Formats: sequence, C-alpha cells, structure tokens
Amino acid sequence: LSKQRLLVVANRLPVSAVRRGEDSWSLEISAGGLVSALLGVKEFEAKWIGWAGVNVPDEIGQRALSSALAEKRCIPVFLDEEIVHQYYNGYCNNILWPLFHYLGLPQEDRLATTRSFQSQFDAYKKANQMFADVVSQHYEEGDVVWCHDYHLMFLPKCLKEYNSKMKVGWFLHTPFPSSEIHRTLPSRSELLRSVLAADLVGFHTYDYARHFVSACTRILGLEGTPEGVEDQGKLTRVAAFPIGIDSDRFIRALELPRVQDHIKELKERFAGRKVMLGVDRLDMIKGIPQKILAFEKFLEENPSWQDKVVLLQIAVPTRTDVPEYQKLTSQVHEIVGRINGRFGTLTAVPIHHLDRSLDFHALCALYAVTDVALVTSLRDGMNLVSYEFVACQDSKKGVLILSEFAGAAQSLGAGAILVNPWNITEVASSIGYALNMHAEEREKRHHHNFMHVTTHTAQDWAETFVSELNDTIVEAQLRM
Ligand code: UDP
Repeated sequence: LSKQRLLVVANRLPVSAVRRGEDSWSLEISAGGLVSALLGVKEFEAKWIGWAGVNVPDEIGQRALSSALAEKRCIPVFLDEEIVHQYYNGYCNNILWPLFHYLGLPQEDRLATTRSFQSQFDAYKKANQMFADVVSQHYEEGDVVWCHDYHLMFLPKCLKEYNSKMKVGWFLHTPFPSSEIHRTLPSRSELLRSVLAADLVGFHTYDYARHFVSACTRILGLEGTPEGVEDQGKLTRVAAFPIGIDSDRFIRALELPRVQDHIKELKERFAGRKVMLGVDRLDMIKGIPQKILAFEKFLEENPSWQDKVVLLQIAVPTRTDVPEYQKLTSQVHEIVGRINGRFGTLTAVPIHHLDRSLDFHALCALYAVTDVALVTSLRDGMNLVSYEFVACQDSKKGVLILSEFAGAAQSLGAGAILVNPWNITEVASSIGYALNMHAEEREKRHHHNFMHVTTHTAQDWAETFVSELNDTIVEAQLRM
C-alpha cells in the first residue's frame, strides 16, 4: 500500500539556504516543532512547500536551489524583495502578528499602517496566490494539503478555486483573538471567508477556535455549530488541536556525554544558588520586561535570597531591523543593568542576560539544571519552551511558572503555577512560592506535566489533524 501524500505549505521551508556559487547552494535543516512533528509521522509521505528565506532573482540560481531542495523533499516558492517587504514584513508581521496577539501599534505607526494597508493586503493576496500556484504544480489527486499559519490565510480559497476537490486543512500557530479585535481589521471578512474555504480549520486551544467561530457569526453573519461554521449547507469544521513536542528527542539528548558534561559545568558554576530560567525570542509578546521587574520585586522583598538565586535569561534576537524591537532590546538591557547594579556584588550578579540563541544541546542542559522556569508571555499561541523544560526535568522536578495567556496554560495548568504576567506582585510571590516549594509538591506537579508532555507529542498532533481532515471529507461526502 502506498502512503498518503501530504503537502505541507508554510511560509518558510524548514531549511536555511546559503548560496555558494552561481549554481551551488548549501542547505541546513532547521529542526522546528513542525519539522520534528512530521518527521515522526510514518504513515504519510510529506513534502514541504514554502519560501527558502532568500532572494534568488536569477533563473540559474532558482533551478540549482530547486534541485538541491528536492533532495530534502522541499519545494521552493520564489518571492522577490518587494513582495517580501509588503507581504511578509508588512502585512504578516506588522499587521496580523500584533493584532492576533492583542498588541496595539505605537501611536506614530498607526496612521502610517492605515495608509499602507491596502497595498500590503494586495501583496499578501498575491503572495498567497504564488504559493497556490506552486502547490497546484505539484498536486496529485488524493493529496492532503495542509496550510500553516497567519501568513497563508488566503491560501485555502486559492487552492479550492484551483480544484474544489482538493483536501485542504489550515492550522493557526498563533492565538486567534476575540472577534472584537478581529473586527478592526479592514480585510476582516475577506480573510475569514478565505480560511472558511478549507475543509478543516485548526487552532491550539478551544478558546481560539471559539473566537474564530464567533468572528464568523458576528462579522459574516454565518451560523456557528458545535462542529464548526455553516454557510448555505456547507460546513467548515473548526476544532482545537494542541501541538506538542518530540519529547523523546529531549529526553534522549540528556543522556549524551556532551550534554552531561555541560550539565556538570553549569551545576558547578551555580553551586549554592537556585537557577531560574527564561528562554524567549526577544519579542513584545513574551513579557520579558514584566518578568525581570517581577524578579526585581522578589529580590527587593526577600533580601535573604539575594545571593542565593540567579535568573538566566536567553533572549533570542528576532526582527532586529525593526525599530520597535530595537527599542525593546535597549529597554530590557536598561532594566537588567539597573537590577544587576542594585543587587550584584563584586563576584556575582542576579541576572545573566544573553542576546543570542543556544544550540539544542546547550539548551537541553540548561533546562535540566533549572529549578524554576519563568514563562511570562502576554499572549502566546502555545509556548513550546514550557513543554521542553518539563521534558528535561524528570530528575530535577523543578517548578514551572506559566502565564495564563500562553496556550500551554490550558494543558499544563494543573502542574504549573499560573500567573497574570501584568501583575508583578503576583509573579514575585509565585517566584517565592516556587523557590520554597517542598519536594513532594514539586514531584506531584512535575509528574502531571511530564505525563502530558510525553503523551501529547508533536507526532500525535500531526496524525490527529490529518486523520480528522480525512474524516471531515468523508462525512461531507456522506451528507451530499
Ligand atoms: N530555541 C532555540 N534556541 C534558543 C532558544 C530557543 O532553538 O536559543 C527554540 C526552542 O527550543 C523552542 C523555540 O525556539 O522550540 C521557541 O518556541 P516557542 O513556542 O516557545 O516560541 P516562539 O518563538 O515560537 O514564539
């Protein structure tokens, strides 16, 4: 029996490409959540379609890159610089990303965005059509096409226009906001209608799914049912599919000698102090200033802890060319500097802040030696860092402090200490509670989370989504 073919369409391919010559490229696979999810799924033959993240204006380069990528089961969509600017930097990252995370634009940017809105939305539609063209070139009857994320909300409609029989699923990796927020988007109806062209629409949590359905009922006047959204007898199934991680990959990594060495080094380095950890992209949604201010408040109120705890904050640079992100970086540096000046000694500081990413093994070691992990996202689709921390804690059984505004709060809520990151008094006292927690309570909480993380893996997530998509189509055919 041949395996079912799956076309995974996402803005970025899971590889980074560097040009080595006129017709030569070197490729490196980047192991994100989606990649490891689909590597683990054995019953599909998956191919990836997406942008390679580089501008390739010449045909020789395009042909060479296409054939290099083909070996990795990847198919490129070529976007020129102007389209990337308007579609990706503009509409996706300056409009949809902040809106879906309930972030307002700075006042001075608001009018500028309003003015450039239409041209960016046009570029967005054009880019989505370019993805659809590539899908249609590679589509074979019976293939499942799985579209990902806010970059490709227009894609389901383009695909169904190309072939109404195509099996199309769409999954959103960010939150979907309250319909009152979505209402403010000039293109609100067009976007909803194009997503509804899919057979199955998936979100991380039940709340996001509910927000989407009420946007469809209130803005489009359609009927919401427990199954999804109905439009003149046609049902679009809407449901929650919480993503997971490849937990075995993390658990196995902890056994490697190099990771063990690293763990030993870290333990020696921070002997006599409890280790608190934050791992985030340096993005507005992660609530990094709030986290650091709460830590300061904790130190202020608990002088006896001042030389007994350290906060390691890994802040992975992101969108460093955008002024707002540059401002966030210097804001964070300023607060960290102030706190270290205030509570540091000649030989130790309370906060180690790193503006860079770590490799997988270093990250695993760090997760493993942590006593308390601190996730303070103001909004976050899921937050995989919280899952990864739990996976690496089976010997230490540390505590997770988790924002109630992360999707993960829905699944790890019983084991974690949930906090409102805007309330730094609450976060500060949760830090104290976590640091003083007895082994018995820590074990109980950890066990709860560990069971969840190891039984709701990324592979399960992908399998569930695709089999639900197949079922949805069978049911639709039965209804006709
Ligand atoms: N990550 C990484 N290197 C680092 C820090 C983080 O590869 O130095 C990874 C981390 O392992 C996790 C991802 O980045 O898988 C972050 O995912 P999350 O869902 O927490 O947040 P996002 O960045 O997608 O908003």
